[in-house]
Amino acid sequence: MKLHFHSAPVPEGVSLADWQNWQWQLRHSLKTKDDFASRFVLSEHEAAGFDAAGSTFQIRSTPYYASLAATDEPKDPIRQILMPTKHELKFGAQALLDPLGEKRNNPAPRIIHRYPDRVLFLVTDTCSVYCRYCTRKHFTGGDEAFVRSRDYEMALSYIRSRPGVREVILSGGDPLTLSDGQLERVLSDLRSIDSVEIIRIGSRMPVVCPMRVTPELVAMLRKFHPVFLMTHFNHPREITREAADALTLLVDHGVPVFNQLVLLNGINNDAAIIQAVSRRLLYLRAKPYYMFQCDPSEGTDHLRTSVDESLAIQRELWGRLSGLAMPNLSLDIPGGGGKVGLVPNFEVSRGDGWRSFEGWDGVRADYVDPDPAGRARPIDADQYQDEWAELVSAKN
Ligand code: SF4
Repeated sequence: MKLHFHSAPVPEGVSLADWQNWQWQLRHSLKTKDDFASRFVLSEHEAAGFDAAGSTFQIRSTPYYASLAATDEPKDPIRQILMPTKHELKFGAQALLDPLGEKRNNPAPRIIHRYPDRVLFLVTDTCSVYCRYCTRKHFTGGDEAFVRSRDYEMALSYIRSRPGVREVILSGGDPLTLSDGQLERVLSDLRSIDSVEIIRIGSRMPVVCPMRVTPELVAMLRKFHPVFLMTHFNHPREITREAADALTLLVDHGVPVFNQLVLLNGINNDAAIIQAVSRRLLYLRAKPYYMFQCDPSEGTDHLRTSVDESLAIQRELWGRLSGLAMPNLSLDIPGGGGKVGLVPNFEVSRGDGWRSFEGWDGVRADYVDPDPAGRARPIDADQYQDEWAELVSAKN
């Protein structure tokens, strides 16, 4: 079936040219309680969230992303991603300030080096939307739109001095909040390092400000291939006509797009919602890649799912999505232990050399391991011949 995508509504009094200009979107960001109150009927919990969280956590949205949220429904999924509530002020069960233990794996300014073959390079601390569940709340929203030049040079020297680093992941903050010129400088410097094979850009701009993906940007990215874009759609309503056009432009210019979503309580913790996001993304040639367990950063308990619930969602997806459309459930071990895959258990019993499995729709069967001793065929030879003949005739 052909999928259709709806355009975000352009607010009255705003010209189409301004609305489609990403710099206009960033300049007109909503940041204060009053900015949000001028568009939304704030609930008591949200108003309390703005009053208290505003001094602790950053709040910001592009007008475009805010236009996707319902104005008078606090349970609206987009609104819950955007708006602080008083629940964010509770520490929560684990409440880690640095859930990924990045400070421990920070050998040079702006470099996170956890795995031998790849590093994260935090080129900015700015985002155009601050997500309420962000794992890097301690880092984002400072005043370094572009990394300071001394730190930048030290980060580059570090990458240069580690020939084992084959992939560099630009992150932050959101690297696509940088200008084309700043990004081009970073990409060109990285491409001058022989050992760097793959460059990834982690960005939520195709979701929250898709007008950032301009013909000029993709033409520039094309000069530095292979460049991959890791984006972050959480809900099918985020995949508008504008977002679809942005993804198409990227893929048409040879930038493979992968999506990493976060499972969020009350926002997308339902297999039907994940199915809808994944189908739409795949249709646009963006690969649903990871489905992350929400990190236990401070003030996120109300948005986190339990591991059991996430596994149940992944299990249900096995019957609904092809392998191409399937995101892999994964969890970052708190404190910097790296990623582990969370896989539903389809095994129901096992014995010596065999295991029994039950599929997503309840069909059960055994899988028998190969027999190194070359056991005689266990089935009746006549029955085997009959089955063989039946299969051959079905084929013909
Ligand atoms: S875009 Fe990414 S880094 Fe920025 S607030 Fe959202 S989750 Fe955090």
